[in-house]
Amino acid sequence: MNKAVFIDRDGCIAEDIGFVHKIKNFKLIPNAVEGLRLLKNYKLIIVTNQSGIGRGYFRFEDFLQYNNRVVEELRKNGIKIEKTYVCPHAPDDNCECRKPKTKFLKDAEKELGIDLSKSFMIGDKKIDVEMGRNAGCKSILVLTGNGLKEKENAEADYFADDLLDAAKWIKENDNQ
Ligand SMILES: [Zn+2]
Repeated sequence: MNKAVFIDRDGCIAEDIGFVHKIKNFKLIPNAVEGLRLLKNYKLIIVTNQSGIGRGYFRFEDFLQYNNRVVEELRKNGIKIEKTYVCPHAPDDNCECRKPKTKFLKDAEKELGIDLSKSFMIGDKKIDVEMGRNAGCKSILVLTGNGLKEKENAEADYFADDLLDAAKWIKENDNQ
């Protein structure tokens, strides 16, 4: 069984300007690369809600192009993203995959042989923390992106300044 760190993309790895999908707006968040580099013993998996697609703000192709750019930039920095799980639906669609629903984590458990009880979820929103907890992962709220706004309501195992701080905490709290 593999251990994974599930990571929200916008506001956690890359700057979130709201429904971000244009490559010209791509900007890594400080310490994101440094943090992810510490997590070599884990499968790194992006889990992202992209309701901008369901709302008609941009196309799935736009999402893909932008996401590929993010993954490629990380790859150039020696970081392998195993897979990106994306929910393209609008909140009103009541789909099965939108965070905080745990479908994508259960999918990863099967598809990639992940032991969720030994895995972690990092995000900048309450829904990220909630999804992680509901799937049995330890969950971290980062205070980048929307993190400061979401802090009050999120029941995280740890509140991290950024991905580097989160990665250090994961390494300290991985007791397996
Ligand atoms: Zn969905």
